[in-house]
Amino acid sequence: MIKKNDLILTGIILIIALAAILFMTLTREEGGVVVVTVDGEVYKTLPLDEDTTLLIGDEQGDYNVLKIEDGEAAMTEANCPDKICVMHRSIHYDHESIICLPHKVAVEIQNGEESNVDIITN
Ligand SMILES: [Zn+2]
Repeated sequence: MIKKNDLILTGIILIIALAAILFMTLTREEGGVVVVTVDGEVYKTLPLDEDTTLLIGDEQGDYNVLKIEDGEAAMTEANCPDKICVMHRSIHYDHESIICLPHKVAVEIQNGEESNVDIITN
């Protein structure tokens, strides 16, 4: 026999579960952002879920091309001497970054997906 209190308790648990699912869905929709810093200062913040191409250039003619596509950010072009940033694979996990040392340009993912590696180390 099911008691009235049990039904209420089940209802409360269901509501909490639904609220949790809703909360997770909402925060996931918010998505991650790509923070571009030049010489330690924030140059631009871009949403990771919008395909864009950003030219990061300065007066000396140094430039980096950041491309955001399919939720991943990558440096597709640069005229720096080492090209390490261009060779770096695309990033999309939280706190992953691509740094161009010669141009002092850094691209970092914030509030992105949790990477498996991070979960293990934590
Ligand atoms: Zn570079």
